[in-house]
Amino acid sequence: MELILSNDQDRHTTIDIKLFDYLSERPATIEAFVSGELTTELASDLNCRLLNAPIKGRQAIYGILQVSAPTTYLFSTTEKDFVRMLAQASGNALENAKLYHQSHRLVSDLQLINETSHRLNMRIDIHEMLLFLQKQLLKSFQPMEVCFAFKKHDTFEITGASTSLFHSENGQSYIKHVEQHFAQTNDPLFVADFSRLTPNQIEYRSIMAIPILMEEKINGFSIVLHKEPYFFSFDSFKLMQSLIHHSSLAIANSILRTQLQEMVDLDHLTKLYARSYLDQFVEKSLEYDQSGMFLLIDIDNFKRINDTYGHQVGDKILVQIAVQLKETIGSRGICARWGGEEMSVYVPNIDEKEALELASTIVEVIPSATDPQVTISAGLITWDERDRPAFQSVFLHADTALYEAKNSGKNRFCTHNGSYQTNS
Ligand code: GH3
Ligand code: MG
Ligand code: MG
Repeated sequence: MELILSNDQDRHTTIDIKLFDYLSERPATIEAFVSGELTTELASDLNCRLLNAPIKGRQAIYGILQVSAPTTYLFSTTEKDFVRMLAQASGNALENAKLYHQSHRLVSDLQLINETSHRLNMRIDIHEMLLFLQKQLLKSFQPMEVCFAFKKHDTFEITGASTSLFHSENGQSYIKHVEQHFAQTNDPLFVADFSRLTPNQIEYRSIMAIPILMEEKINGFSIVLHKEPYFFSFDSFKLMQSLIHHSSLAIANSILRTQLQEMVDLDHLTKLYARSYLDQFVEKSLEYDQSGMFLLIDIDNFKRINDTYGHQVGDKILVQIAVQLKETIGSRGICARWGGEEMSVYVPNIDEKEALELASTIVEVIPSATDPQVTISAGLITWDERDRPAFQSVFLHADTALYEAKNSGKNRFCTHNGSYQTNS
């Protein structure tokens, strides 16, 4: 006797089961499976007589119960009825077990989606939200790698909530494949064995990629990978789709909030921080950091530049200076538009010697960073925790130092205590 079951069963069992295979199964077996009727066959090649009874539930046929007997044996009507009933009873039992299992899974899937969207809506910060979502994906689908990417100026940027593969060269082929897919369609992507789709050597063979939509347009996507082929089930694919779909509104809201905040924080022309952001930053630093420097910068003879080349060229120079300042300061501190043609730099936790060097570098580098060339004058304030200055006095003293730099010949910076440094 043999049990032949179709592909969609959970195969965590020690019972000997043969997988139903349309290509290799005997015609009489296939007929029983397709028609749902009992079939018999004299299989002279196997030297036996076969009886095929469909394992039938109310919703589907799940396989075949196959009984074999010697060629000389003829199955009686009673025996056939018995085997038919046995197969049918198994079919019903199998179906009930399956439905029970499914309903359990549906409930836990709903709980997961519900919990995820609830927790996402409580969070403000996009990075925190994605890290939480990453945790949920890892827990639910056991992928080896997870990626979140979002569109920025027509390209997809990989977020910090992605695992390390996607920040390395090795991850690029997967990202590229997914990007190409989403350039064609909004449909999610399910790849059971990536090595079949590409001639290249492939490390991760199972891929699921779900688009993150914002107003029905693709705003980003999430990818999960596993090295084993056929690792993710179709149910996992459906669940990941629901999970991302239910999270996308919270994500979109958070991105919009961040963009709105950036619009408030950044100066439109130079993309340097606006004055209000600088104020907050300095106020906090004066309270909590160990030392700091503030440099107030004013372009020399800028009116002449505007008069000679026009206001647009003047604006271009402002942008050039902003780019140079950001490059020089990097992540050490912040650069802000102070107002008009004045900019400023604030760097926390820096000693006086380094601050003097940095100010000097800035004054030196600006002429070569601008076209038409301009020079700048600047006023420098440094402080340390032995004497924390009052918030307003930082700006006041920097302004005095700047005034001194202008009065003593421009293209230089001065410190507040009167001694000025000439730029060579
Ligand atoms: P000084 O060396 O004493 O600083 O001379 P200056 O000509 O730079 O000083 P002044 O304060 O007389 O003029 C500043 C000029 O900066 C006047 C204004 O037209 C120009 N300016 C201020 N904001 C902007 C801006 O956003 N874009 C452009 N193109 N020019 C600006
Ligand atoms: Mg000025
Ligand atoms: Mg000026």
